[in-house]
Amino acid sequence: MIPFNLERAESLEQALEFLDRDGTEVKIIAGGTDLMVELREISPGEKGPGTVLDITPIDEIRGIKDDGSTITVGALTPHREISSSPIILQYAPLLASACSTVGAAQHRNIATIGGNVINGSPAADSVPALVALNAEAVFQSKSGERVSLLKDIYLKPYQTDIKDDEILTAVRFPRLPEGATSSYIKLGRRNALAISRMNVAVVLVIKDGEITEARISPGSTTPTPDRITTAEELLIGKEPSEELFRRAGQAVSEEMINRSGRRWSTPYKEPVIAALTARALGEAAGEGV
Ligand SMILES: Cc1cc2nc3c(=O)[nH]c(=O)nc-3n(C[C@H](O)[C@H](O)[C@H](O)COP(=O)(O)OP(=O)(O)OC[C@H]3O[C@@H](n4cnc5c(N)ncnc54)[C@H](O)[C@@H]3O)c2cc1C
Repeated sequence: MIPFNLERAESLEQALEFLDRDGTEVKIIAGGTDLMVELREISPGEKGPGTVLDITPIDEIRGIKDDGSTITVGALTPHREISSSPIILQYAPLLASACSTVGAAQHRNIATIGGNVINGSPAADSVPALVALNAEAVFQSKSGERVSLLKDIYLKPYQTDIKDDEILTAVRFPRLPEGATSSYIKLGRRNALAISRMNVAVVLVIKDGEITEARISPGSTTPTPDRITTAEELLIGKEPSEELFRRAGQAVSEEMINRSGRRWSTPYKEPVIAALTARALGEAAGEGV
């Protein structure tokens, strides 16, 4: 592995101070489950970060808070804590499901939601769930706070708009509305310790037998994470049925091709994301559909 200088920040203020200084390229490390792999891939002689900044002692950006309408998850919160949090299980169960599928148990104890978001992998499990929750990303720098819709921070796969002097401090989202149901489905090559091949998060609100709200957020489908409004609109005002959900799944496939074009993976992805979406909607709608 290439040599680098390791620094540790004991507080957010100290970390921001450090990032604000000019000097060698600094890489933040949280759980390190993505970053260490990345650093190991840099060959001797190639340019890597001069400094790695360990932010794990910063308690201010860890933990889950609920103010009665908005839930805030600190960037350093590990997937295990999120997947077993009573707040998340009650008000955002799709995020608990998504985080429970990340890596293996030991892995979920240290890998953080902030790292998952900023790494920007199209296969990241927490991101489709966060997009379906209409989450915001909260960044902090010496010059202040910046808040952005989480889906808008992605420029392309593995690249977000985070600035060199910023830290992601939290993701936050409104509680799901009363009566909402949801589902998160991940398709990997194995049932355990597998990166998503494709995944999808959905939210439904059904009132008097009619769908009044629908959110569909697929992963590894569009160039950057997003909800598929064409498929969502198709569901509004309709009675849930297998046929309706099949058509919504088809609409997600069509939107994938509109945005990404036909590629080598399309013959696989086209039917698979349609089927995953229909299955997730069926799961969210519950028995009888
Ligand atoms: C064996 C293995 C299995 C895996 N399985 C899965 C899986 O099933 N699903 C999945 O989604 N991912 C998986 N991953 C990827 C990884 O574990 C997750 O993305 C994890 O959430 C990353 O979090 P971390 O805390 O380890 O991030 P780190 O590796 O510490 O950081 C990742 C990136 O984010 C930046 N960063 C981290 N925190 C912040 C912050 N607060 N502010 C600004 N920048 C920050 C770092 O600089 C780095 O660029 C797997 C990885 C491995 C090695």
